[in-house]
Amino acid sequence: MDSQDTLNQSVASLKGIGGQSVVRLEKLDIRRICDLIFHLPLRYEDRTHIQAINSLNPGSHALICARVISSTILDRGRRSLVCQITDDTGYLSLRFFHFSASQHNNLSPGTLLSCFGEIKDGYSGYEMIHPEYKIIKNPEDCITNDTLSAIYPLTEGLRQSSIRKAVQQALTLYNNNTEALPDLLPSALLNRYNYPSLDQALNTLHMPAAGVSVDTLQNGQNPALTRLAFEEFIAHQLSQLHKKKSEQHWQAPLLKSTQQQSKQFLDGLPFQLTKAQQRVIQEIKADCSKNSPMLRLVQGDVGSGKTVVSAYAALLALSSNYQIAIMAPTELLAEQHLRNFSQWFKSFDTQIIYLTGQLKGKKREHALTAINDGSAGLIIGTHALFQDAVNFARLGLIIIDEQHRFGVNQRMALRDKGHNNNSKPHQLIMTATPIPRTLAMLNYADLDISIIDELPPGRIPVVTRAIASERRPEIIAKITNWVKQGRQAYWVCTLIEESEVLQCEAAEDTATMLAEMLPHVRIGLVHGRMKATEKDQVMQAFKAHKLDLLVATTVIEVGVDVPNAGLMIIENPERLGLSQLHQLRGRVGRSTENSFCILMYQSPLSKTAGERLNILRETSDGFLIAEKDLELRGPGEMMGTKQTGQLQFKIANLERDAALLEDVSAAVKIIQETCPENIQPLIERWLGTTTKYAEV
Ligand code: ADP
Ligand code: MG
Repeated sequence: MDSQDTLNQSVASLKGIGGQSVVRLEKLDIRRICDLIFHLPLRYEDRTHIQAINSLNPGSHALICARVISSTILDRGRRSLVCQITDDTGYLSLRFFHFSASQHNNLSPGTLLSCFGEIKDGYSGYEMIHPEYKIIKNPEDCITNDTLSAIYPLTEGLRQSSIRKAVQQALTLYNNNTEALPDLLPSALLNRYNYPSLDQALNTLHMPAAGVSVDTLQNGQNPALTRLAFEEFIAHQLSQLHKKKSEQHWQAPLLKSTQQQSKQFLDGLPFQLTKAQQRVIQEIKADCSKNSPMLRLVQGDVGSGKTVVSAYAALLALSSNYQIAIMAPTELLAEQHLRNFSQWFKSFDTQIIYLTGQLKGKKREHALTAINDGSAGLIIGTHALFQDAVNFARLGLIIIDEQHRFGVNQRMALRDKGHNNNSKPHQLIMTATPIPRTLAMLNYADLDISIIDELPPGRIPVVTRAIASERRPEIIAKITNWVKQGRQAYWVCTLIEESEVLQCEAAEDTATMLAEMLPHVRIGLVHGRMKATEKDQVMQAFKAHKLDLLVATTVIEVGVDVPNAGLMIIENPERLGLSQLHQLRGRVGRSTENSFCILMYQSPLSKTAGERLNILRETSDGFLIAEKDLELRGPGEMMGTKQTGQLQFKIANLERDAALLEDVSAAVKIIQETCPENIQPLIERWLGTTTKYAEV
């Protein structure tokens, strides 16, 4: 058997790994011996030298050698055994919450110890809680290691020592013949960045030589780690590009409208399209006239008018006698699309079907039949559109609004519905959450991107103010005046907890409080726990100006469009991300009148929180705000777990390794040009063979 086969063997062939541990390793996605080689340490412990107590840093781990001075059981608070120790350079306490009487006895004054643990800055100086320790006779007995000790990610029931032994065996097999795992980065790249070879990198990370600093290994400064993270990013982008290419093997319906149909649609609009809208429409038209499926992401700031652009795409499909599915993340938004599309397609003789999870009984039956027999042209709804019972007669176009609310898999699931023989529907995706360019490359490289970078004319920027919540009465008074002028307002309640229940309760309380203070103002309430029909009634009433003030939770974040509402008060804005606040703020400033957004923060405001709110006051450019959000909070928080959930890395860390992203595209190009044969192995190495690219 050659060594490549050896590394592809199951981990069960290693000494000490069998039965249960095989199952446990599988939970970490480790099946083959080579998977162990790519299972890199989470952190390292430095037991290579003894540290003097006066040189310790809280937060780090250290090996020390010191003598017990006192050993006391404390009964105040949580019962604990506390040992004072000294090495003549300083003092340190060892604290045990679980201990036995014999342990107490053994740690008597004068006893010499070697201890290893994390240094904490305790109440009375530095301490170690539950350190590993050994009683020794002479200072020479304090054993140091030659190399840093790697600490591997574990899963329940798996011991650090077992995984370490397994990795060591795997590494020995690999080092006997490093050719078994070829270096997939061309030397041109390695040289350019001064990166170590694959085997050097892997060996450094599993067994760092003495003298390698733990810090550089953990903070992403060590080239061994950087190289692998970079390789992983490259693999992700390659896989996206591969996905895009394999899409082109599919056929797609030809969608186009006659000049007459196009004119009829445009004449029916109450406005002229902006230059940016027209440009994006041209891009969509070009896509739909090809016979491979469009996969296009339209990015545009809140209020830039994405909906009507998608409606134009719908026109193309409708004119070509195909069905269109329009999916929105919330009922509120689906409802709004229903209203808009019904209006815009009034003069077109087509049946529009509305489908949400709330639709039951006869109505649902009717909707499903119309979708199935093809009598419905436009089908607008929520997630309900991918229920099994929904069968399209001839789906030609899928429009997905506010894409960041859906996962990739949902996106794909809907598309499979329109899948027949060798053809797939076109897909248009809209988002107001700007995706910084570097992230877009990793996550959306399979999509073509259009940007609507212009707002409809006459929009006046929203005046944004940050005001402390102590001034709440003043703000409430402002609402009275505002409403007297015939305008409407939003009051948005946020809560730090993810709990929707609490958030809804807070909104209810606020609505009650405001109703008491503002008896002449007609107040409505929407939150996520209301029935869809109730929510809808309130929204309709607000839109029809039967309500003046809408108290809401962040459910109104996406897409809601009521131009007369030009004042928004956001409570505790410091709890939300900048992009989310920008989205919320996008609900106002939708007319040619002045509009305001009041960020009513809880004082005192931390320095960063203050800076963040300032950014919002200073700019209304969603892209700039997203970049700042990325800078201040990191991509994980900015994009929300739903979005980053798609990006699972083995080694790379978006926060730590963000600087590498800049160079990924250039590196991908080099690989495509100099060693295209490495592309598939790279994708397999980092994303596995199980991913669904086999679709081709
Ligand atoms: P978003 O891009 O946030 O989804 P919408 O599509 O909801 O924005 O559009 C926001 C508002 O602007 C809507 O009331 C819409 O009818 C209006 N609108 C769209 N395009 C134009 C335009 N070219 N001129 C004037 N108003 C427009
Ligand atoms: Mg929208």
